[in-house]
Amino acid sequence: MTKYDLAVIGSGPGGYVAALYACRHKLKTCVIEKDLTGGTCLNRGCIPTKSFIHSAGIYKTVKEASLYGVEASGVRADFGRMVSRKNDVVLRLRTGVETLFRANKVDLVKGEAQVSGPNTISVSGQPDISTKYTIVASGSSVMELPNIKIDHNDILSSDDILDIKDLPESIAIIGGGVIGCEFASLFNTLGSKVTIVEFTERLIPTQSREASKKLEMIFKRRGIDVLVSSKAESVEKRKVLKLSVSGGKTIEIQKVLISIGRGANTDCVKESKCGVKKDGGRIVVDDHLQTGERDVYAIGDCVAGPMLAHKASYDAMVACDNMLGKIRKVNYSNIPNCIWTDPEIASVGMGEEEAKAKYPDARIAKFPYLGSGKALLMEKSEGFAKIIGDANGAILGVEIFGEGACDLIAEAVLAKTSNINIKDWARSVHGHPTLSEVLQEALHIFCANAYP
Ligand SMILES: Cc1cc2nc3c(=O)[nH]c(=O)nc-3n(C[C@H](O)[C@H](O)[C@H](O)COP(=O)(O)OP(=O)(O)OC[C@H]3O[C@@H](n4cnc5c(N)ncnc54)[C@H](O)[C@@H]3O)c2cc1C
Repeated sequence: MTKYDLAVIGSGPGGYVAALYACRHKLKTCVIEKDLTGGTCLNRGCIPTKSFIHSAGIYKTVKEASLYGVEASGVRADFGRMVSRKNDVVLRLRTGVETLFRANKVDLVKGEAQVSGPNTISVSGQPDISTKYTIVASGSSVMELPNIKIDHNDILSSDDILDIKDLPESIAIIGGGVIGCEFASLFNTLGSKVTIVEFTERLIPTQSREASKKLEMIFKRRGIDVLVSSKAESVEKRKVLKLSVSGGKTIEIQKVLISIGRGANTDCVKESKCGVKKDGGRIVVDDHLQTGERDVYAIGDCVAGPMLAHKASYDAMVACDNMLGKIRKVNYSNIPNCIWTDPEIASVGMGEEEAKAKYPDARIAKFPYLGSGKALLMEKSEGFAKIIGDANGAILGVEIFGEGACDLIAEAVLAKTSNINIKDWARSVHGHPTLSEVLQEALHIFCANAYP
């Protein structure tokens, strides 16, 4: 039986970051993976979707080139080549992770793992692994609707849609959360007729009401049919698909994408075989990411908290530090949300509604992209930056809606993580002309109102 200091189950952004971090700290480490190295993020999530979104952004810019005094003719989106380019990017990154494993002497064990005791892991088709510590980073998988079954052909999951051969003429997206809205924005940019069916009363309910209503307005202006407070009831397969929605509406479309959320993969731990507990479909951990079994940690999508790649990687480092005796607790209040719709939406900390409910003295300052020289010259003047603070200038939250939001939020994450007071943050000088000036202007408005 091979003996390790650490065995990691899953090679997604939780698992591979944990493995590389641990071996840099001299732990003899292996990663057990039953599928493709890199997990959801690299193979079926962040990377492939953002590769498509980047291609679509270029198509849109070239199509609209005359706005910038450039004439381009015969512009067309070659979806097949976008798919091959996406595959190429994914392959390069997957090979990169495997190369890093080899370079850092992390053993990659191929097979399905099962925690069979506090310090033993069984792997399908492989000898058992003996380990001092285990990190379960088994991630999540697509959730299905009871009434509309995914057939991987016409009715697709987010995994399936990444490998379709042709751009659908029309598509209905069931679920208007982050993933659904990113796909809606992508297919609308590429020219498909898109309908979103969302059960709650607004798109991306995890963002502020203002951001989701603004996104809905922009989507509708671009021709996306947004059906909120609506339930997808059934799909009838004829020459085209007929999707029935609550209220008696029927939509004829070529493809249906189901994106109603993800469920944690927890089959690799059986409560009867070890002290690891599950609750609400996720593995239970404490603030140190330790399960009920002292030497077994769990991180990423399979435990509570936002289902995001950078949260999984953050968990990985917290879990490893705790194993290494550098005791740390997780704190998810500084994890950014990044949404790659067009325009982008990003936030950190509390949204406006939550801040107002928790802090009656919460103050809010907003600056529109319309006031930014850089946004204007880029023809991207739709959006806002919003700073939310308390009466003493502590940062409660920041939300950015507009071009470059997902990159710009990094400054707010740094400020919030460092507990900088808004008054001090406002004194930092931002380059001109840059989009980051929208944050600077919102900070100045905040200070002018709070400290006249
Ligand atoms: C379409 C889509 C777009 C997304 N876009 C973004 C984005 O832009 N930004 C962002 O931050 N997040 C995004 N996410 C979410 C992100 O992909 C996940 O939060 C992230 O991958 C979670 O990482 P993880 O390491 O916890 O799990 P995963 O990446 O899911 O990896 C888990 C791995 O464990 C393996 N595994 C499971 N059980 C076993 C077992 N018993 N034995 C061996 N191996 C096992 C699985 O095969 C898998 O490879 C997106 C997700 C989707 C679906």
